Amino acid sequence: MLLEKRITIAVDGYSSCGKSTLAKALANSLGYVFIDSGAMYRGVTLYCIRQQLIQNSKPQVDLIEKELDKIHLSFKFNEATASSELFLNDENVEKLIRLPDVAANVSKIATIKTVRDKLVEAQRLIGRNGGIVMDGRDIGSVVFPAAELKLFITAVPEIRAQRRKKELEEIGVIITLDEVIANLMERDLIDSTRKESPLIQVEDAIVIDTSELTREEQLQKAIQLVKASTCKSSE
Ligand code: C5P
Repeated sequence: MLLEKRITIAVDGYSSCGKSTLAKALANSLGYVFIDSGAMYRGVTLYCIRQQLIQNSKPQVDLIEKELDKIHLSFKFNEATASSELFLNDENVEKLIRLPDVAANVSKIATIKTVRDKLVEAQRLIGRNGGIVMDGRDIGSVVFPAAELKLFITAVPEIRAQRRKKELEEIGVIITLDEVIANLMERDLIDSTRKESPLIQVEDAIVIDTSELTREEQLQKAIQLVKASTCKSSE
C-alpha cells in the first residue's frame, strides 16, 4: 500500500503486548522503516553484561557512562526474515539480546539518563524524514511527540506472558510461565515508575487492545488509523 505522505507512527505500551509484531507488519505493509527501540536498550544492556558493568544486579552508572562512546548500534535489514536486526559494534546480536539475562537487566539500564539521551538522539536521527514506525515506551511522549499517529497497545497479562514464553521457546529458551510473568511485572513496574521518560499513555494516543484480535485484525485496524491520520495531516 502506498500513501502519499510518509508519516511518523509511534507505538508504545507495556512489555509483550504485541507492539513489535504489529509495528513490523504495519511498516512492511506501508513500505516504511520499522525500528524496535527496545532492541537498542537491550544492545546497551548486553554490552554492559559482557563488560561486567552490572554488579550484584546494580548497573555501575559511572563506569557505564564512561563506556557509552564505545557502544555503536545499528540496524541492518535481513531479506530472509524481512526484518531489521540489531548490530552491536558490527556483531549481529539480534538473538543474544532476547535472552533472559538481558531481559532481567534491561529496565535498570533504561533508567539511566545518559543512556536514554544517547538512544533518543539516535532514534530521532533515524526517523527524521518520516516514513517510520517505531515501537517502545517513550516514542509518542519523548522521541516523537509530534508523531502524526500514536498507538498505545495493551493486552491482558495472561496473554502477554503466553506470547513471551512462546517467543522465547522459538529461540530455544525454556522458561516457566511464572518466570516470564515475574520478569514482565518487574519491567512494567520499573518502566512506568522511573524518573526519566516513564511509560505513559499520552492523551492523543489511540488504544488498541490486542488480546482478542488476530494479527491480521490488528494490522487492518492500524492501517485504517494510518489512512485517517494521513488524510487529516494533509488537510
Ligand atoms: O520492547 P522491549 O520489551 O524489547 O524493551 C526492553 C526494555 O527496554 C523495556 O522493558 C524498557 O525498560 C526499555 N525501553 C525503554 N524505552 C523504549 C524502549 C524500551 O525504556 N523506548
